[in-house]
Amino acid sequence: MYDKDNVFAKIIRGEIPSKRVVENEYAISFYDVNPMCKTHVLVVPRGEYENILDFARRATPAEQAGFWDCFVKTADKLGVNAEFNVFANAGLAAPIFNQSVFHFHLHLIAGDKTPACKDLMREMLCEK
Ligand code: AMP
Repeated sequence: MYDKDNVFAKIIRGEIPSKRVVENEYAISFYDVNPMCKTHVLVVPRGEYENILDFARRATPAEQAGFWDCFVKTADKLGVNAEFNVFANAGLAAPIFNQSVFHFHLHLIAGDKTPACKDLMREMLCEK
């Protein structure tokens, strides 16, 4: 069940600070506090959706359009052009990365990897 007190719900309500990139009626984007790359921004719908599947199933056409408009404007503003990764984690037992905040968000990453990201990738390669 969706938890209204998750950290992104608080950011959307303005209860905790965030470094915002773009916002519209249906979605916002802001910098990740623990970046994996030089540019690491999260694109988040304002509506209460736990993960990407929940959003794709239940969000209204206006919410979906607003979300993608925020994504495009964010990518344009950051100048990522065609050189980036986008991913969404879902659930505590996802195979590569677990979801830690249960409000749907896309990670948009670009530019050089941070040392933390390089360490993580090394760890993953060593895992049997
Ligand atoms: P996930 O593990 O896919 O749910 O991603 C959650 C992301 O939210 C992680 O990359 C965190 O670094 C990021 N995060 C957690 N708290 C905050 C916050 N207060 N502001 C910005 N990003 C956050």
